[in-house]
Amino acid sequence: MRDEAHSPQTDIRYPIKGIPSAGEVREVAPGISWIRMPLPFKLNHVNLWLLDDGDGWTVVDTGIASHETEEAWREILAKGAAGKPLKRMIVTHFHPDHVGFAGWLARHCGAELWMPFGEWAFARMRSVERGNRVLDGFQHFYRTAGFDPGLMKLVEGRSKDYARRITPVPRAVRPIVDGEVIPVGGRAWRVIMGAGHAFEHASLHCEELRILISADQILPQITPNISVGPYVPEADPLRLYLASLDKFRALAGDTLVLPGHRRPFTGLHARLEELAHHHDRRLEETWAACARPRTGLGVLRYLFDRELDDHQVFFAIGESLAHLHFLLARGRMERRVSADGVYLFQRKDAETDRR
Ligand SMILES: [Zn+2]
Repeated sequence: MRDEAHSPQTDIRYPIKGIPSAGEVREVAPGISWIRMPLPFKLNHVNLWLLDDGDGWTVVDTGIASHETEEAWREILAKGAAGKPLKRMIVTHFHPDHVGFAGWLARHCGAELWMPFGEWAFARMRSVERGNRVLDGFQHFYRTAGFDPGLMKLVEGRSKDYARRITPVPRAVRPIVDGEVIPVGGRAWRVIMGAGHAFEHASLHCEELRILISADQILPQITPNISVGPYVPEADPLRLYLASLDKFRALAGDTLVLPGHRRPFTGLHARLEELAHHHDRRLEETWAACARPRTGLGVLRYLFDRELDDHQVFFAIGESLAHLHFLLARGRMERRVSADGVYLFQRKDAETDRR
């Protein structure tokens, strides 16, 4: 009950009725349509946004590489796009469900790729790097996080997942930067760069329409994954994430938010409060978990008391480490290396100080 009082759930509304089926283009505001692409995960869809761009279309995000995505795109391009070409893709970040189909669209439609430079470079690097050194890095990272032999068996597949889920990332990019105003069909869309979920995550805000395309920076119902992973093993992404939420507090209260997953919603400010509150609670739980020394995996098991599938376990370990690193950086946690090379986290409090 106390959580309910804290959490202004009632301020969040879902004004758009229904959900588009695969291959359907559904208008949600003048010149803005919602496309929902399938994903092969428990979170089974990603939202793309088609913007009327005068003599053509601009799409925000592209979908993951799969036959289902290709089928849906073929249908949209054949009948759904009102005879106008797809001119441009604005991709918000490097995750495969967002950039995965950009290569195919560039090849088939000649659409230009606009994307934050770091996101593009990271996506391109990950799509071309191969071999044992990648696997070595992944194995080292998950071993230090305390993965047991059963989980270590999943790591090789994980190290190859990214390249499997994207079509070749286009070789050329038009970089987009924080604060840049991108004209689309006579309307101004301002880039708001976030961090924490990805290194340079682009959201797009149209003040005239009071619409924010938030992609994965701000989601309703589920919290964006904030993860530490093998490429930046000492990162503190939660600090970056919480700091970048401040940028969205200045937007109008009645902004319609178009997220990367789930449904369009209003109540941005209430959602920002909920997200910050969620991480506060998680930080306290993480601290409580480490009354005795625990590995990253031990903290994961403490925080997530439900069954996780092979895909979710990587999100969950990344998330657990993100909360541990946040506390570590603020002196509320200590970390040491065990005799077998695993990181052990223990909270710092009056009791451990006395020992
Ligand atoms: Zn993402």
